[in-house]
Amino acid sequence: MPITLQFLGGVRTVTGSSHLVTTDTAHVLLDCGLFQGRRDDFYRLNTNFAYKPREMDALILSHAHVDHCGNLPSLIKRGCRCRIYSTHATKDLCKLMLEDSGKIQEEDIRYVNKINRRLGLPMREPLYTKSEAARAGKRRFQTLSYNQKALCAKNASVTFYDAGHILGSSIVVLELKDGSRTIRLGYAVDLGRANLPMLNDPVLPKDLDYLIIESTYGGRSHAPISDANDKLLEAITRAVERKGKIIIPAFTLERTQEVIYILNQLYNEKRLPAVPIYVDSPLASEITEVFKYHYAYMNASTRHAIDSGNSPFDLPNLHFIRDQRDSKALNSDKRPMIIISASGMCESGRVLHHLKNNIEDSRNMIVVVGYMAKDTLGRRIVEQNRFVRIFGVPQELNAEVVVINAFSGHADKNDLISFVSACLPLKRVFLVHGDEEQTWALFDTLYRQGVNVYMPHKEETVELA
Ligand SMILES: [Zn+2]
Repeated sequence: MPITLQFLGGVRTVTGSSHLVTTDTAHVLLDCGLFQGRRDDFYRLNTNFAYKPREMDALILSHAHVDHCGNLPSLIKRGCRCRIYSTHATKDLCKLMLEDSGKIQEEDIRYVNKINRRLGLPMREPLYTKSEAARAGKRRFQTLSYNQKALCAKNASVTFYDAGHILGSSIVVLELKDGSRTIRLGYAVDLGRANLPMLNDPVLPKDLDYLIIESTYGGRSHAPISDANDKLLEAITRAVERKGKIIIPAFTLERTQEVIYILNQLYNEKRLPAVPIYVDSPLASEITEVFKYHYAYMNASTRHAIDSGNSPFDLPNLHFIRDQRDSKALNSDKRPMIIISASGMCESGRVLHHLKNNIEDSRNMIVVVGYMAKDTLGRRIVEQNRFVRIFGVPQELNAEVVVINAFSGHADKNDLISFVSACLPLKRVFLVHGDEEQTWALFDTLYRQGVNVYMPHKEETVELA
């Protein structure tokens, strides 16, 4: 029987990453990401599996972003009982991310059912609840260190290499044995970039036969991350001078910690204005605790700083807010301050309250440090619509909007091309995890360089020879 690779999700799009490797002795699943999109597609795509969950022998998780691990509770609800392989940090972060995802789904269905009840339509169930997510987080995880090889199924072994994308993220190498031949398959989805705050640079796996790689920014290049410090400082200083509040909507995992890290650097350089900094997101606070615990995954300079008592998360003006009353109290506090809050795209969470209370005052500032998808409040803020709706009420956008593009945890086109080039020779490179335009851009460049590159379709199966 040939060894096959089936592309199940995160193909010609960026969400719902999942791929299945089948040999005559094993079924190994690479990631089981949550597809995010319109509500009906969300339920349809996250509940239909092209394989029998019960037949899986191993599930490998590359990292803790929900578009890579977020469908694990559904998989378990449908009978999957196999062992789950990840790094230790991914396991701990995954648990928090899954529970939060369950909570969001329960809230969403509560809202849908309120409408359905009024319309006499049937009640719906969430994809999974917070407690189902909590149970999934306690499943049989087998945690591995980087560079540690482990047998994950019969004639199949897995090794993780640092992907430099978020804390604990991995480039996965599967070694598949079939009779006398061995195939080495690399999976670099998502791939980070050099010099990110706290993280190590991505590691190059050796002697691969095949490579699956992301293409989120297959046709774009980023500003260097070092630009972020000065741009952030410039913006904060300007807003503080006019006695404004600075609202930073940020993803709870990695971006929030990166912003804290940079603020800490600016503080140590004695350049940061002396204003209070609030991280107003219970999830971001919990994730930051996991970062502190798993600091062994960070780069040498950050580890050294933490060991010598200079943790980037112990900034004197920094306060983590958990209680809702403390969050509300910030509204009546008129001092200049920095508020880092979620959700990252301003679609839910406490950041909405801060935006509502501050968006109409031109002294204030909204600093955008992350990707804002189409049709989100975050995108409307980036586009500087004159009026934006918050909790259904139109608000005039008078606060200054500053967009800092230097933040990104993903490799850009130059990083992707050099990564692929350094992995050559390869029998074939598969491009996934990108909107078509970006994937095509990377395809063109690699094809012109003579690489055997391929853009699979969703549910397509290829043979690995
Ligand atoms: Zn990711």
